[in-house]
Amino acid sequence: MGWNIDLSGKMYSELSQELLRNVDIAMYRAKAEGGAKAVVFDQKMHDVCLDRLRLENDLRQAIEQQQLLLHYQPIISLQRGQITGFEALVRWQHPSRGLISPALFIPVAEETGLIIPLGWWVLREACTQLAHWQQRFSTQLTMSVNLSTKQLSQPDLIWRLDQILRPTKCDRYSLKLEITESAIMDNDELVLCTLEKIKTLGIGLSIDDFGTGYSSLSRLHKLPVHTLKIDKSFVSPMHLDREKAEIVRTIVSLAHNLGMDIIAEGVEVAQQLSQLRELKCEYGQGYFFSKPTDSIAASKLLAKMPQW
Ligand code: C2E
Ligand code: MG
Ligand code: MG
Repeated sequence: MGWNIDLSGKMYSELSQELLRNVDIAMYRAKAEGGAKAVVFDQKMHDVCLDRLRLENDLRQAIEQQQLLLHYQPIISLQRGQITGFEALVRWQHPSRGLISPALFIPVAEETGLIIPLGWWVLREACTQLAHWQQRFSTQLTMSVNLSTKQLSQPDLIWRLDQILRPTKCDRYSLKLEITESAIMDNDELVLCTLEKIKTLGIGLSIDDFGTGYSSLSRLHKLPVHTLKIDKSFVSPMHLDREKAEIVRTIVSLAHNLGMDIIAEGVEVAQQLSQLRELKCEYGQGYFFSKPTDSIAASKLLAKMPQW
């Protein structure tokens, strides 16, 4: 922006609009950093903001234009050494940016509310796939789907779940919803009531990324949750780091004492698998078994049914 400003007509109005927009950007940044502080606007802030705005607009179109797809990562029963189910993980095939990771767009979807239509699309797709796999391979297969905090607080959640399960003919006892530790712990009695209703529908509940948030033990034992998923930040380094291995041991024993079972996320090497088997951990998930893959590769895996 030059300093030789023509303060009349269109030029003035464009500049004032830009100035106000920049003030807004700096103000939002100040708020995001905790407020009660001054933030000076700079070009980088402008670029970040523009990039984010583009992502938000593109994401809106992505849902309409069917650019989203699901990848599936197997969950292995450590006792049997075989696939027992899958976790559905959303991907975004962007027309110019290629495959975008959910770590990048899920937070944007959460903030804008787009997570609601996106989340229902994921659930419908995953349930349809599960019904198909159960018919073709085994009725025992399960499907885990991530549920965002926003979805959890939707007043029509139970009705929605039912609406999706019916036409897909998916066995609701084989569906598990994953909710992060913070979503469950931060919230009030209303969440507890919703979780109870989900359980009544026959759907299983897991706490995702367990160990990364703050769990209150008195609350944990009241929750109608069947499974704890230990976060990969403890599992992946457990063969090298005694402290991490100790944390895994403690979480496994906590879950068992509460009558829950355990999925260890982020199993990357054989040594972790033997450690987890020794701890009597029920399930494992991670690159050691398989990375998340598209439905065709996951079907091939099911047909081969490898043994670990
Ligand atoms: P999550 O639910 O905890 O999913 C597990 C993540 O760990 C996945 O990342 C998976 O690819 C990755 N992972 C699996 N095994 C390993 C391993 O051995 N090592 C390492 N380093 N990573 C491993 P992804 O697919 O990038 O998903 C990231 C997060 O995005 C998910 O974490 C979940 O919180 C969110 N997400 C993904 N799909 C959905 C969705 O459909 N809805 C919602 N609300 N969130 C989703
Ligand atoms: Mg998950
Ligand atoms: Mg997780």
